[in-house]
Amino acid sequence: MSFDIFNLSSELTKALEKNNYKTPTLIQTKVIPLVKTKQDIMAQAKTGSGKTASFVIPILEALKENKTQKKAKIKVLVLAPTRELTLQIAQTFSNLSEYFPKQLSVVSVIGGEKIGEQLLKIQKGCDIVVATSGRLLDIIGKKQIDLSTIEYFVLDEADKMLDLGFVQELDEILKIIPKQRQNLLFSATYSQKVIDIASKITTKAIKIEVEDTSTHVQEITQRAIFVKKEDRSELLRYLIKQHNFKSVLVFMANKRAADNIANKFLKKGYEAESFHRDLTQEERILTLDDFKNKKIDILFSTDIASRGLHIDDIDCVINFDLPRSTEDYIHRIGRTARAGKTGTAISFLDNENLNHFKLIEKRYKLDIPKEQIDGFDFTLIEQKKQKGPQPVKGKRKSKKDKLREQGLR
Ligand code: AMP
Repeated sequence: MSFDIFNLSSELTKALEKNNYKTPTLIQTKVIPLVKTKQDIMAQAKTGSGKTASFVIPILEALKENKTQKKAKIKVLVLAPTRELTLQIAQTFSNLSEYFPKQLSVVSVIGGEKIGEQLLKIQKGCDIVVATSGRLLDIIGKKQIDLSTIEYFVLDEADKMLDLGFVQELDEILKIIPKQRQNLLFSATYSQKVIDIASKITTKAIKIEVEDTSTHVQEITQRAIFVKKEDRSELLRYLIKQHNFKSVLVFMANKRAADNIANKFLKKGYEAESFHRDLTQEERILTLDDFKNKKIDILFSTDIASRGLHIDDIDCVINFDLPRSTEDYIHRIGRTARAGKTGTAISFLDNENLNHFKLIEKRYKLDIPKEQIDGFDFTLIEQKKQKGPQPVKGKRKSKKDKLREQGLR
């Protein structure tokens, strides 16, 4: 199947070719025609499924049709949870509209960068705003943006925007955008909170489910290796050498651990860097670009990189430390095997985190063989079988858990 089925303009077709999009992904085959029907959509799509282009393509096609005014008015507002994702979405809009006779103006509205430049671009007139909610509200507060002409409102990775702060910010934004608009909501999961948010935004949304997140991992070879905590760096070096991994994303528990190990690997001659929230926006962009362009071979990151990042060709994702939330496991390993490629995800296990790993396996119906590697001694301590649900590691124990432990329930 090719993109021909959508009857796209020659300009868009040319851009798709340039970006090497030959066959529409499953989410694209479902979302693209539906956006054209002007209905609201609530789509459950994994990261890496091509979801961004699934809304960018039909929106661009529509904007191309009715590009008449001299000064551009904002027709599209996209909200995304992170600065990186915001920039990636804006880039997709720009890349795919490259051959339009009249260039569309796409502005990223994100924190961590000077507000002045963003304001200037908005004042000049723009067609598409891709924003994180905090900075957008700053600009709205300054009365420097007119959102009364919005036709498309997109909420990407809604499941990442569920805290109370965001819900309040969303309410503010919803107050000032036109009621009459098309709403497109994308989320990796459909929790009650996502459904609540969707009900605020969408009307009679068509639900699209492409694939259950639990089956999303088919293209990824998942491994779990027992290793003593102090031997993890050595095991990592061993695995990189043995499999000749060229691009490795390693998830660490916190910023300090990411910095420390990146320094150690640098000293050992690897092109390694760390990636976390303490970096400035410029540093983040530079680091990601270097990783994408293979100037960096190993990126040691906190969970900030677990969602939404478009870096293709990552050979291997390593869970040096397991993620706290079971859901982040799926997001983390989804950084490899993107856009139909294959990849490997390896989790480092020990006696302490084994039960937590079993929870992850249970949640996603996985049964990953537990390996031991020659030369890396490890003694497995028989895990006590606990009755009833176990608290998730990293989460505060609930009152119920404490009572249960004391045998009071
Ligand atoms: P997303 O799910 O939006 O994060 O996209 C994942 C990656 O797949 C991005 O790097 C896109 O550039 C790429 N991509 C999206 N659609 C296609 C397609 N139809 N063919 C090839 N690559 C695609």
